[in-house]
Amino acid sequence: MRVLVTGGAGFIGSAVCRHFIAIGYEVVVIDKLTYAGNLASLGPVASHQRYHFERHDICDADAVSAIFAKYRPDAVVHLAAESHVDRSISGSDVFVKTNVIGTFNLLEAARRYLSSHNNVGFRFVHVSTDEVYGSLGDEGLFTEDTPYDPSSPYSATKAASDHLAKAWHRTYGVPVIVSNCSNNYGPYHFPEKLIPLMILNALDRKPLPVYGSGTNVRDWLYVEDHARALGLILTRGRPGETYNIGGRNERQNIDVVRQVCSWMDRLRPIDHSHNELIQFVQDRPGHDQRYAIDASKLENELGWRAQETFETGIEKTVRWYLANTDWWQPLREKVYGGERLGLVKA
Ligand code: NAD
Repeated sequence: MRVLVTGGAGFIGSAVCRHFIAIGYEVVVIDKLTYAGNLASLGPVASHQRYHFERHDICDADAVSAIFAKYRPDAVVHLAAESHVDRSISGSDVFVKTNVIGTFNLLEAARRYLSSHNNVGFRFVHVSTDEVYGSLGDEGLFTEDTPYDPSSPYSATKAASDHLAKAWHRTYGVPVIVSNCSNNYGPYHFPEKLIPLMILNALDRKPLPVYGSGTNVRDWLYVEDHARALGLILTRGRPGETYNIGGRNERQNIDVVRQVCSWMDRLRPIDHSHNELIQFVQDRPGHDQRYAIDASKLENELGWRAQETFETGIEKTVRWYLANTDWWQPLREKVYGGERLGLVKA
């Protein structure tokens, strides 16, 4: 199986590549290497003979078509995207370009490729987010039938791309499968996102900024569990279907940060608890209150189960950051130093 992985140098994409190489697939990465793309995350597979890397922008339709012609993939797992909600608030244009136009280019390239190659088992997995469903109240879970109601520029562009992907299945018969996953965490996570930011700020004894009152709830999934889910969806999911992916690990943000602090207290003790570094700061505009996934379809149809609990996953994650300074230090120094993003300016 030769799989084209878009966004393979990102957080989830690199986990998918490491997983696919481990289970014997050939992997072709297409990635623009934006601020979020990092070849060091592909270090563990970079010298493998079944791994290929192509640096391109998915907004470049000719380049995308040329990759299909060059590699003739058996499948696409499409992860390339602008992914940070805060950045989408400050600058939404690149989100519209990459997430909407880039996805359109890939779907079109797949459609043309299939019309000229008889690739019967071809699949196009479009990787999306639970944020397309908007916010939940205190009760209930997102199912595959929950209506779309995105709040942020990020989730609105992902919703748009999901609609394109489903339309290309219904109208042109491209064998698309959409996955909507909850918040991921784990190794190789760019340090603008909540969990790595808290670990690295705690290590530097800097304030730990928690938005609003810290009561927003996210449903956390360890990234390697997501990669395994995508592998199953690719081989056993049904074209035209959507699969929600989540680890049944709902946590308030403040509890996530406290858990990081308690691991830092244990592994890197200082003269007071790291909890004392927590600072409540101005909330994110349009901040969704709660996300929670019902993953029954994926569990019942494809037999997937998350292997990590939040407790085991967060311990692994904190230990990984403490042991992998070489990976994150250049990013903290040269790419993103921890400044606040995503406040609306007048
Ligand atoms: P990421 O920001 O870590 O990585 C994105 C990758 O895409 C980077 O390697 C970047 O260089 C590449 N990229 C960006 N624009 C590109 C372009 N125009 N052309 C080619 N490559 C480009 O993102 P992530 O957290 O790994 O998320 C991957 C996918 O999963 C995204 O589609 C995201 O919407 C989705 N998702 C993420 C989460 C999460 O919690 N992180 C949850 C559910 C779904």
